[in-house]
Amino acid sequence: MINQINYKVKCEMVGCKNDANYCIFTKKHFSPKIHFCEDCKQKLYFELGKSIIPKSLDAPYSPKRLVKN
Ligand SMILES: [Zn+2]
Repeated sequence: MINQINYKVKCEMVGCKNDANYCIFTKKHFSPKIHFCEDCKQKLYFELGKSIIPKSLDAPYSPKRLVKN
């Protein structure tokens, strides 16, 4: 889904002035690619991670938690 690029283009993330290293393809016809840099990839990864690792209802009863207590 994330593709490395080898042409020169600016990162398109808000407030970022780096050169892009990666792109994601979208379904938009006008500008189907979103370009972003290593920094923004890290930030994206972090942000996504926060939403993917949820406070699961099972968490208090997970084996890890039981061992800790
Ligand atoms: Zn960037």
